[in-house]
Amino acid sequence: MEDRLQPAFAEVLRRNPGEVEFHQAVREVFESLGPVLRKNPQYAEAAVLERICEPERQIIFRVPWVDDAGRVRINRGFRVEYNSALGPYKGGLRFHPSVYLGIVKFLGFEQIFKNALTGLPIGGGKGGSDFDPRGRSDGEVMRFCQSFMTELYRHIGEHTDVPAGDIGVGAREIGYLFGQYKRITNRYESGVLTGKGLTWGGSLVRREATGYGAVLFAQSMLGTAGESLDGLRVSVSGSGNVAIYAAEKARQLGGRVITFSDSSGYVVDEAGIDLDLLKQVKEVERGRVADYAARRPGARVVTNGPVWDVPTDVALPCATQNELTEADAKQLVANGVRAVAEGANMPSTPGAVALLHDAGVLFGPGKAANAGGVATSALEMQQNASRDSWSFGYTEQRLAEIMTGIHDRCLATADEYDAPGDYVAGANIAGFTHVADAMIALGV
Ligand code: GLU
Repeated sequence: MEDRLQPAFAEVLRRNPGEVEFHQAVREVFESLGPVLRKNPQYAEAAVLERICEPERQIIFRVPWVDDAGRVRINRGFRVEYNSALGPYKGGLRFHPSVYLGIVKFLGFEQIFKNALTGLPIGGGKGGSDFDPRGRSDGEVMRFCQSFMTELYRHIGEHTDVPAGDIGVGAREIGYLFGQYKRITNRYESGVLTGKGLTWGGSLVRREATGYGAVLFAQSMLGTAGESLDGLRVSVSGSGNVAIYAAEKARQLGGRVITFSDSSGYVVDEAGIDLDLLKQVKEVERGRVADYAARRPGARVVTNGPVWDVPTDVALPCATQNELTEADAKQLVANGVRAVAEGANMPSTPGAVALLHDAGVLFGPGKAANAGGVATSALEMQQNASRDSWSFGYTEQRLAEIMTGIHDRCLATADEYDAPGDYVAGANIAGFTHVADAMIALGV
């Protein structure tokens, strides 16, 4: 990081003690910004760095609920309304026991730049809870969501803040949350949440969008080297919504998807993952990797070691933050990996990113590669605002255009700042300047 950025970074450390994921996300962006500040003195004059690191609003609340045994449980809820220079705060809700303020802030900070990169009018925010949905009944999840929304509803709105899903929050949770919002406010305000069900205001392609977009981004990166996914081996980590639809799009484009994972291990299926079975196990039964392997001849489960040990051409980390370490990157490079596109948020550690960069591997950072999800959320908001619903084909076409636009903007910006082919620099700089210019225009 250049010296001129050190004071602002020191202030981030001082104000947010112990929030290591947040520090990591800020450092990653700051490391790209030296040349930007040199070229554009107005950003320092307007203290944009200091302002952009401090969320506009942070809400922390108690979420009491009653479990099936009649016991009262307490979780903590969060919503960080980070930056609204470009539009209403927009970003998902994560329900996972690891959630604390530092995770929500790292995700919210990433979301500012990701959302800016889409070119659509959405600001950045994120929320969630340390609630663990695993092993909870439908009724428990519903009561939790209702209690969560009983506080959250007063802070959100279609022109204010528009949450969606993330880890642990899918169509079921969005349904319970929307139902409670509607009940409390007496408003059928479709645009207050995205990721809704298709029969009540959702958008076609939203479910598929993050995974599809990450693969389209990988395909665009490979295209710059005169290659394509056709015939390549593709490794996916994770088995949630992002992973499943990344696998689906990779297969549509001719790739052979050979892995997926969850916290219990990973599956290697050299014949190519059976997507119908994967969806049945993960989306319908909410099962584990072993439940897939048990029904799939030739597939094996590995419970020790990372999925990145499996030789592959294209790696798509779609699980969670810091899942792909420097050692994993070294293994991938040794096995000849050509491209890595991040479906999850910040899945590669800083050491891994540096190693892949030095090895000349095409690397698409999450804030560019996984922006298809939130971009399609913005398309869902457009449909809600016009009381319309678009076809699958049209919506997918819009998504593809947005992903190509992000890819090309990253490359053009990287060129402009003398970092040709560096998607990390391109994404950080293009996202930052877009938001920074709007912040300056709107005044202090
Ligand atoms: N949670 C997703 C992300 O990380 C999507 C957010 C949204 O659709 O608002 O971008």
